[in-house]
Amino acid sequence: RMSRTYHQRARILVVDNSEINREMLNDILGEIYEIKLAGNGREALEILEKEHWNLELVLLKLEMPDIDGYELLRIMGEKKWLDEFAVIAVIASLTADVKRAYRLGACDCFRLPFVTSILNHRIENAIATHEKEYRDYLTRAYNRRGFVYMVERFLNHCEDRTRYGILYFNIKNFKATNELLGVKEGDCMLQSFCKSIERSFLHPVYTARVEADHFVSFVERDRISLKKLEEFCNQTFEIYNKKIRVHSCCGIFYLKDENMPVAGMVDRAKLAKQHIVDEYLKPYAVFDHKMEMEYIDKAEIAAAFEEAIINEELEVYYQPIVDPVTGRIMSAEALVRWIHPKKGFISPGIFVLKLEEDGSVSKLDRYVFQKVRSYISGRYEKGLEVVPVSMNLSWMDFYDEALIDEIVDFLEHPEFPSELIRFEITETSYAALEENVGKVLNKIKKKGAWILLDDFGSGYSSFNMLQRFSFDILKIDMSFTREIEMNSRTRRLIPLIIETAHALDAKTVAEGAETKEQVEFLRNHGCDYIQGYYFYRPLKKDEFSEKLDQNSWKCSQNKHKSLIR
Ligand code: C2E
Ligand code: MG
Ligand code: MG
Repeated sequence: RMSRTYHQRARILVVDNSEINREMLNDILGEIYEIKLAGNGREALEILEKEHWNLELVLLKLEMPDIDGYELLRIMGEKKWLDEFAVIAVIASLTADVKRAYRLGACDCFRLPFVTSILNHRIENAIATHEKEYRDYLTRAYNRRGFVYMVERFLNHCEDRTRYGILYFNIKNFKATNELLGVKEGDCMLQSFCKSIERSFLHPVYTARVEADHFVSFVERDRISLKKLEEFCNQTFEIYNKKIRVHSCCGIFYLKDENMPVAGMVDRAKLAKQHIVDEYLKPYAVFDHKMEMEYIDKAEIAAAFEEAIINEELEVYYQPIVDPVTGRIMSAEALVRWIHPKKGFISPGIFVLKLEEDGSVSKLDRYVFQKVRSYISGRYEKGLEVVPVSMNLSWMDFYDEALIDEIVDFLEHPEFPSELIRFEITETSYAALEENVGKVLNKIKKKGAWILLDDFGSGYSSFNMLQRFSFDILKIDMSFTREIEMNSRTRRLIPLIIETAHALDAKTVAEGAETKEQVEFLRNHGCDYIQGYYFYRPLKKDEFSEKLDQNSWKCSQNKHKSLIR
């Protein structure tokens, strides 16, 4: 059964023209519910106009002078208020047309006087039935849907939304605890945790369980004391006679004075939670401006993305890849940049992921491919210095036949050396690789374009990838390069990776070299090429062209004939 805390007391409107009835109901119900009273139809309508969104139930007398209960029911139906609350019809005499009341949308009906306990029970049932799809079966708090619905409804009628905040809670290590204690105890812990939120200093307006061990609360901002929150996130529960310490963490989003879907607020509070660095030291984090830049709604991205292409918000940068012995630019990687008109720079690491989730990443890669192709072939036709440029393929691209055809067609072009374009894949393509990618990659390779294995060593099937396909280059993941100075194991590992690559007739590129020490180490251990800020950041097209021009000038004496380097 539904249990409500003080601040989540259901709100009931009693509409009755008899003062004795009103007072009686107010006395009986007032202990459990928040009661509003109306003495006639007109008063009832006034209250409903203002607060229909904030009611769980209306107790409605049918026989009243002037605007009676039937007429009120009709209006409630017309205004769609009956979606928002349940109505129980109250009759004074047996001549009342109960059938008509049911037809108009009342869910229950009784005659006064009534036994208190039965009355309470029927009211609870009416509310529970009405809210069934909005409630979480385990905790009886709202579910995600109910939370979104209730908060949206609340905010539609709220004058100052900046007075509120959303808190996103997550129990630490719940899965482990659940396995250790058992499912029954785990459930009990979730219930206790939920109750503890509802009964806490936060006095939440609404609380919901949105995922397994994730809870959200809609709270008045003034109630949020970070110090108390810290204590709250580290408390002891008694679960089946066992005392158990429960750590949780909490992301906070303060509402701004702008319209935003509630789901977006919940996402932001969750994102803030993910930014907590040390959950034992400071178990909460407040969503801030920096996170807003990082926060991108999947739907928002997908919608804005096509326009971004048209408006040229997307730009391809080129990051030179260098021979560490000569310092010469030997190739480059095409990296896409999105300068959003409002958010500014959005990291591709973030939006590429969103586009993959949305299924539209291939549009991006087709766009990048076209840009790279026209850039390189343009320079090549003019007889300017060129180097091979690699572009990133997402695993999804392998399912986009049109894109693959476009690539293969271009590589067949007799006037264009296919060595000038290369393709980077990561092990996320592994599953696809098992299916048909091997064939596709071989087709591309046969045309003369190289295939690079990106982020080597960062995943769990890196070596498996080496078994599956003969890559031309392994790109050693940045996480190795970063550790060179601090970690002696890394220093022993990197030479072995390089040796492995060479044993498989592949060359190596180390990603993300930023210091002289890293570069020297890599060079001394035979790493073929280096990509990193130490030499170059990703450059705008024109800047990159300048570097290429100097590249040919500097090296004009010993210019290689072959393009493959
Ligand atoms: P990636 O392919 O591993 O690209 C290398 C990333 O390392 C780039 O980040 C680059 O800017 C960064 N980087 C290079 N040198 C350094 C360094 O010395 N220090 C540090 N800290 N970073 C360095 P970026 O541009 O943010 O790209 C992130 C990822 O987004 C890429 O990782 C790639 O997986 C994806 N991506 C970028 N452009 C595209 C694209 O056009 N299509 C697809 N499908 N994915 C793309
Ligand atoms: Mg890459
Ligand atoms: Mg990489």
